[in-house]
Amino acid sequence: MQPTIRIAIQKSGRLSDDSLELIRECDISFNRGQSKLKSQAFNFPIELLFLRDDDIPRYVADKVADLGIVGENVLAEEKTPVDVVAKLGFSKCRISIALPKTTPYQGIDDLSGLNIATSYPNILSEFLQRSGISASIHEISGSVEIAPSIGLAEAVCDIVSSGSTLISNGLREVEHIFNSEAVLIANQALSKAKQKVVDELVFRIRAVLKAKNYQYILLNAPNDAIDQVIELLPGMKSPSVLPLADEGWSSVHSVVHKEQFWEIIEGLKAVGAQGILVVPIEKMIV
Ligand code: ATP
Ligand code: ZN
Repeated sequence: MQPTIRIAIQKSGRLSDDSLELIRECDISFNRGQSKLKSQAFNFPIELLFLRDDDIPRYVADKVADLGIVGENVLAEEKTPVDVVAKLGFSKCRISIALPKTTPYQGIDDLSGLNIATSYPNILSEFLQRSGISASIHEISGSVEIAPSIGLAEAVCDIVSSGSTLISNGLREVEHIFNSEAVLIANQALSKAKQKVVDELVFRIRAVLKAKNYQYILLNAPNDAIDQVIELLPGMKSPSVLPLADEGWSSVHSVVHKEQFWEIIEGLKAVGAQGILVVPIEKMIV
């Protein structure tokens, strides 16, 4: 029998919805009652534990959970010994240093001697050391962005996603010091049997994440344009070409990367492709 693995997920916050959606996209079903701390999946040997994000690395390192989903920012700050198994592509943000917009800034040397408020003292101190800057770090746990306006600090170092919170507090981002996204972490000493279940889950996660970048495309083209169409559509191996009932025409099926999509469509139209259909891909195993 397969052992049940435990995965720690943020109870409620910016990581929660995307973490749960990823598990569901892996075709793992579970019920999540209000205020429940745990939930057992019906069709995969996994139990979900709902925790505060800051506690997740520690719980994984201590084997209370085998896996966890957490931001790289929390991992880098806490330096807990866990393995990063996969980058998950959501909850993207950065950690930046910002100054009141009236403070002149020419370059990094202008940070020397400042008092910088942050919830990320380790990430900030590493950056300052790396850059040879001596400044004081004032650790606070929340609402960092108001520190300059209440006279608590002359600069801040905080999480930024769009930058609108900084702007609305009269601050200007001057140094971008760390990039973060959600990652899947694992305990470093999993049993062989648990590792097998983890590998199965990671296989599903990779198939789901890969599919998010691609679309399936079907189109009709005159036979004399097929070579050009194939050149535009490399596909996973090469496109499938099927004859249409209508003589002289074929149907072509392939996958395209979302980033190249519109450029490819323009090319396809130019060589005479018609009836182009594009559909999302749920899983992709290559
Ligand atoms: P908890 O109650 O679980 O401790 P929290 O308030 O510390 O939650 P959230 O604000 O929900 O945490 O953020 C969780 C993670 O989401 C962050 O650690 C970071 O990795 C990511 N994130 C993405 N964008 C942002 C943002 N604009 N502000 C804060 N975190 C962000
Ligand atoms: Zn937190």
